[in-house]
Amino acid sequence: MKKGELLYQGKAKSVYRTDAPQELVVEFRDDITAFDGGKKAVLGGKGTCNARVSAFFFELLEKAGIRTHYLGMISLSTMRVRFLSMIPLEVIVRNVAAGSLVQRYPFQQGQPLDPPILVMDYKDDARHDPMINDEIIMALGLVTAGELSEIRRMALSVNRLLCKHLKGKGITLVDFKLEFGKDEAGVVMVGDEISMDSMRLWDAGSGQSLDKDVYRFDKGDVMEAYRRVAERITGDAGGRSR
Ligand code: 5GP
Repeated sequence: MKKGELLYQGKAKSVYRTDAPQELVVEFRDDITAFDGGKKAVLGGKGTCNARVSAFFFELLEKAGIRTHYLGMISLSTMRVRFLSMIPLEVIVRNVAAGSLVQRYPFQQGQPLDPPILVMDYKDDARHDPMINDEIIMALGLVTAGELSEIRRMALSVNRLLCKHLKGKGITLVDFKLEFGKDEAGVVMVGDEISMDSMRLWDAGSGQSLDKDVYRFDKGDVMEAYRRVAERITGDAGGRSR
């Protein structure tokens, strides 16, 4: 399988066509950004860390029967994926109040949310990803009602799986963001990535951030945090020397 032309360049990943029409290659780059791209850096080894964690979680999901775009790894930072027609929604599941939820609503930082809260943002950088509701989604024709309930069901199943795995590693899954797309046959699948850039993870004992908040809020050595948490999540002790 040959890497072809660049199809899309995001803030931290590049997506390439391949000689197989229904397959793409995703390169996880070392770029890190926050606050709508207002804060930027390049951190050596970050792409590899996020690719490893994403691959690990996609495999976990697939084993549990949740469809994803993941097909396999080509190198430590490049992933083979199915071509999906992406749905411009950021599907966010929250188990603990933090981030924009605490900024916008009267929740206490760290307040447990049981049952979890699922919210959706409209993915549009120029509009700063505004929160969206079912009626706006329908009026914009982004998905059908059936697809929307399938997306919700899948996101909550992913949450249960991730929470269980992370809890076993002494990590609290505070919140995370998923993106979905449809394959040629119209089957809804999890796309994009599941990594420290798209999750909020707290050490269950100390409450310390183990994710992009370390970068957002200058909480310490970002790569040290990413490497350590990637090792904890994947159980891959060899990751540290890469
Ligand atoms: P918040 O709404 O509190 O900023 O984010 C909630 C969760 O979704 C966090 O784990 C955050 O990392 C993730 N998230 C929200 N928006 C984005 C986004 O545009 N890109 C990425 N990678 N993650 C996001």
